[in-house]
Amino acid sequence: MSDYDVIVVGAGVAGATSAYCLAKGGLSVLLLDRGDAAGAKNVTGGRLYAHSLERVMPGFAGRAPVERRVTRETISLMTADSSVTIDFQKPGGMSDPASASYTVLRAEFDAWLAGEAEKAGCDLVCPAHVDRLLKDNGRIAGVVAGDDTLTADAVVLADGINSLLARQEGLKPELSAHAVAVGCKEIIELPERVINDRFNLAEGEGAARLFAGAPSGGLVGGGFLYTNKTSLSLGLVVTVEGLARSRTRLPDMFEAFKKHPAVAPLIEGGALLEYSAHLVPEGGLKTIPDLVSDNILIVGDAANLCLNLGYTVRGMDFAIASGQMAAETLIEAKNNGGDYSKGVLDGYWRRMEDSFVLKDMKTYKNAPEFIERPGTYNVYPELMDGIFSDLFTITGEPAVLARKKIWPRLRKAGMGGLAMDLLKGGNAI
Ligand SMILES: Cc1cc2nc3c(=O)[nH]c(=O)nc-3n(C[C@H](O)[C@H](O)[C@H](O)COP(=O)(O)OP(=O)(O)OC[C@H]3O[C@@H](n4cnc5c(N)ncnc54)[C@H](O)[C@@H]3O)c2cc1C
Repeated sequence: MSDYDVIVVGAGVAGATSAYCLAKGGLSVLLLDRGDAAGAKNVTGGRLYAHSLERVMPGFAGRAPVERRVTRETISLMTADSSVTIDFQKPGGMSDPASASYTVLRAEFDAWLAGEAEKAGCDLVCPAHVDRLLKDNGRIAGVVAGDDTLTADAVVLADGINSLLARQEGLKPELSAHAVAVGCKEIIELPERVINDRFNLAEGEGAARLFAGAPSGGLVGGGFLYTNKTSLSLGLVVTVEGLARSRTRLPDMFEAFKKHPAVAPLIEGGALLEYSAHLVPEGGLKTIPDLVSDNILIVGDAANLCLNLGYTVRGMDFAIASGQMAAETLIEAKNNGGDYSKGVLDGYWRRMEDSFVLKDMKTYKNAPEFIERPGTYNVYPELMDGIFSDLFTITGEPAVLARKKIWPRLRKAGMGGLAMDLLKGGNAI
């Protein structure tokens, strides 16, 4: 007889959702996290697309510690001293709970979500660092955390991108520098009114800003800024391979990003509350490992379920949905006699295939290659800078038609490359 039906390793959004659903489904569940509290060590940019948690807990945003509902989106292409920004604002829009998105701070949000799992009946232990999976006659039978041996009929690995446990088991290959980015982030405190005025937001509304070009020094990557109630989440993400090749230090890039004329006024007067750094799985569909083996399922970042399209970054909605589907599969297995063999747990993969998770990963399977194309990070910011400088500069010299200003810029940027990017982009994102 095992101590628990299921042990979930990792109380991030994937693990906590899984534990919540398992407990609601009547299974005995233990949720373990190495942090002092759930979420204590977790990092995200900051924007949660609500749809997947909305399915698990309808109306969650009314109870959860979400920061602001995103109503304003901007994307900026930046050179070292200029920026061209697309600004989309729809205050009344995106208010349907399933299509809304919220800025979140993980320390608060994850602690709340794990608390909901506890209320549903799950046992939560933090800090508890799981060192290895427990085996009984070759079969996964629980976990070993320090001096504690805890048994379970099945284990859900929700231990994030590094997932040492999945790697120990040979379920996940070593991380490839090509398929992984590293992000650093500061939480910068500012008064609520200053944030509202600075970002043109009404109370409760939030802004999501993405920056491409100069922030990543021409490497694949970009900056982000999300408004919280009384703070900003400002960060920069760059591929590990790019950083290694260029021998650039991410903290130096980040300092330069903060000083950029388009960014410095946004954070002026703010006080640094927190600094963090974390890896991001950006390899897409091809890097998803086998998610199922006998008595074990892999969810969230541990399964590389993350999608960066340049204009949206998604990982948390995938993590939550995968946690839910893993739980549904295990509940079904328990109710059908407690057979947790791979053949039965393969139902998790089928659920994922029928859901937005693998459908979206498949739709955007070419996105990782596309966002690696260099245009976005150097050619297009320079092109935009040139075009807009020409259009908005009046010198008193005889004027020429706009097309005569724009064409030379387009030719200089390389029409072949532009056409190829349009073509590839159309098929990728
Ligand atoms: C800089 C950055 C910006 C991002 N921006 C966004 C965004 O805006 N929107 C979005 O949707 N996604 C974003 N993502 C991705 C998103 O944050 C992740 O996809 C998401 O956090 C994955 O959740 P998870 O629960 O699978 O993993 P994690 O949040 O990493 O949780 C893993 C948990 O496992 C625990 N753990 C690990 N090993 C062990 C062990 N051996 N024993 C016990 N516990 C263990 C950890 O302490 C942690 O709590 C971003 C990521 C980064 C790094």
